[in-house]
Amino acid sequence: VLELKNPVHCPLRFRVTSSVDSLNNLLQHDWIKIKALTDSTIVYKNHAFAKADANDINIAARFGDPMLDVLPHAIQFPVKHGDRVKIMQGYNGSFSHRKINSRYALDFDMKTGDTIYAADEGRVVGVIKDYQDGGNDPQWRDYANFITVYNNQANWFTQYVHLPKDGALVQIGDSIVPGQPIGLVGTTGFTSKEHLHFNVFKTADSGTGTESLPTVFEEQIAGASLRKGEVVRRN
Ligand SMILES: [Zn+2]
Repeated sequence: VLELKNPVHCPLRFRVTSSVDSLNNLLQHDWIKIKALTDSTIVYKNHAFAKADANDINIAARFGDPMLDVLPHAIQFPVKHGDRVKIMQGYNGSFSHRKINSRYALDFDMKTGDTIYAADEGRVVGVIKDYQDGGNDPQWRDYANFITVYNNQANWFTQYVHLPKDGALVQIGDSIVPGQPIGLVGTTGFTSKEHLHFNVFKTADSGTGTESLPTVFEEQIAGASLRKGEVVRRN
């Protein structure tokens, strides 16, 4: 019996495999989708599973349901009302915004300890807050603190990256409105200097499971038009 639990406010999908070929051949390898805040129990009736060791079963989990349509809408710059902020790296930036899961990310030139304000509404579905360090080397890529918010109308995720240790002001499950303080700027993970890495993405079946999305900000400012060094203002 496999019990799958989804404790967050977005769809999750799971894939069950086994390192033991005879078991792996009995498993369906499609992603099992589970709606937000829903649990599911799967019963495997083949006797081979009764003798299996739990360690022989591998379960991969990913955010979201790639079949849901994305419904774009304008979002806010992630700073306080009336504040200005400089773009440090734009779409397809040569330093680190090259991959399918990051190509439409924006880096905002902010100082360590500055407050990050929510760009979009939704529910917090991910908070990593315990990492302390970072550096200018891709080996740091997996050691960033971040907050992930899911908007269930748009079916997309907004993500705020490089927060300092304990730099999240929200918790998983919190309901977020645009303009709400949600975290602090830091330097954890792969970064050459303090800044906010901001990314909007949808889930995908391919690659790492996410695809970065181009977005439009308030007053119809296209993210694609924002160049390194440009200063934008939040109304
Ligand atoms: Zn970045």
